[in-house]
Amino acid sequence: MRKLEGKSAYEGIAIGEGYFYDNHYNMYSEINNIKIKDVNIEIKRLKEAIEICKVSLLKLREKLDEKTLLEEVKILDSHILLLEDPMYINDIIKEIKENESNSEYSVLKITQKYVSMFEKMENDMYSQRGLDIKETGKRILTALRDNDGDLKKLDGKILVTKELYPVELLRIFKENIQLKGIIMEYGGETSHVAILAKSMKIPTLMGINNIESCIWNKELILDTRKKKSCVLLDFTVEEKIEYEKLKNQLQEFDEKVEKDKNLPAITKDNKKIDLYLNLGDEEKVENVQSVCGVGLLRTEMLYMNSGNFPSEEEQLSFYTKMLEKFDNDQPIIIRTLDIGADKKLKYFDMKEENNPFLGLRGIRLSLKYREIFKEQLKVILKLSKNKSIKIMYPMITNINELDEANLILNEAKQELLEEKIEYNANIEVGIMVEVPSVIFMAEEFSKKIDFFSIGSNDLTQYLLATDRLSETVANLYDSYNPAVFRAISQLVDCASKYGKKVSVCGEMAGDMIGAVGLMSLGITNLSMIESAIPNIKYLIRKIELEKVKKLKTEILSCSSSKEVREIIENYIENLGVEK
Ligand code: PEP
Ligand code: MG
Repeated sequence: MRKLEGKSAYEGIAIGEGYFYDNHYNMYSEINNIKIKDVNIEIKRLKEAIEICKVSLLKLREKLDEKTLLEEVKILDSHILLLEDPMYINDIIKEIKENESNSEYSVLKITQKYVSMFEKMENDMYSQRGLDIKETGKRILTALRDNDGDLKKLDGKILVTKELYPVELLRIFKENIQLKGIIMEYGGETSHVAILAKSMKIPTLMGINNIESCIWNKELILDTRKKKSCVLLDFTVEEKIEYEKLKNQLQEFDEKVEKDKNLPAITKDNKKIDLYLNLGDEEKVENVQSVCGVGLLRTEMLYMNSGNFPSEEEQLSFYTKMLEKFDNDQPIIIRTLDIGADKKLKYFDMKEENNPFLGLRGIRLSLKYREIFKEQLKVILKLSKNKSIKIMYPMITNINELDEANLILNEAKQELLEEKIEYNANIEVGIMVEVPSVIFMAEEFSKKIDFFSIGSNDLTQYLLATDRLSETVANLYDSYNPAVFRAISQLVDCASKYGKKVSVCGEMAGDMIGAVGLMSLGITNLSMIESAIPNIKYLIRKIELEKVKKLKTEILSCSSSKEVREIIENYIENLGVEK
């Protein structure tokens, strides 16, 4: 038996054939030169991909404000021209015709040729030209991949890959491709692709080193139960039978928990815990009666799932459809666009940064591209007429950002007034607590906002200076580090002084250990993906809140994550609720 261990993002057992999905090429990598059968079909394929890029760039250009973003507009214009450049495009076509090469190989080869030609010229204008060609080549490659029906091969398989972007998993989901499991080299358990996999209930294993060195296209056993997460590459018939038995047991446990998911979230000592949903995809909303409302609506998923920036009408119809099952008094917190880092838009090239998680993301991006932000705020305001909507800004770092965002919100309100469109003038506005500076400035923020929502995924990343995607420091990325609990506790104390609500919408809230830890600090408002609700409700119905609160002092005096984990695990074990 060959066993590789990793970290689990969603618990389960899957037995099935693996499929290595090679999506990781970039401008410097090799792409196989696959000989094609029909040159004309291949040229048509290339032209379609170029057209997709062109339409997408033209739409994007419409959204940019030429006065404030002149540089960006100029770059976009030059990319649009390059897609029509006869020399560049004809060279690619010539490569396809003369060498019967596939489009991917031809685009890469010709793009590299031009890039190296421009790189040799020591002149700023030419080096910019080289960058533009590189970006354009990347765009065409992405469009070729996205326009391909290749994904169907993954149906019913365990997907194995070096790195998967959320947008790719969304496409797999949208095309109704059923994955038995996911195994990847990159990505931590709170990466966005992991969160999506969890919401799709796909057993997922992350952090497998040197993934390309193994042969995956054969039967695999994937075991992502929390403490044992691994994949078995070679196994005996007996081992397979054993795993089939375990799989059935797990299924029985899940069925038992599922059965109770509509019961109220009330502890044994009769305390109500408010459970909310984290949403992103319209398709995911199944059972709205089991929760109080939506604690986090990740709006970026709509943008990532579209071929272009969605229009006001598209946004309105998306949210209306997504929220129609919720009663008008169920609070819905809509988070404004949180793009950047691992959440990329295929139609919007962001400048490459050395540290994208510390770069232009979340509210920082919205404050740069104000028109896109204002348009979204207007949509949210319009929705607030009939639903109990609240607005939440992501990645807030300082008070100025909050003030600036509110200024744009006021402009949006003013424009709606002029257009005689109704909205809730007293709409609540809150912020995500992801950047540690917010905790130290909690008093000042408390005076200006209605609520805090703790994004423990990013808060952990920034408090511990540990990339949430990196497998090399995965052992350091740990939301049970006592520093995380102390920081949260400090925020809870300050917010309660000002009578401000605090909820948690990071992955911690939907995890048994995390939920108990948070409740011990006095947090009774937890937001999580739908697939986590049954387990957490099952847990809540077994605990006594007063006893859980007694764990606080112990947790806050711990000196390591291990100690925190042990304290909570001991408590949970005695309840008999673990899988
Ligand atoms: C978080 O950071 O905890 C959070 C909920 O936001 P996201 O995971 O979308 O970054
Ligand atoms: Mg976040």
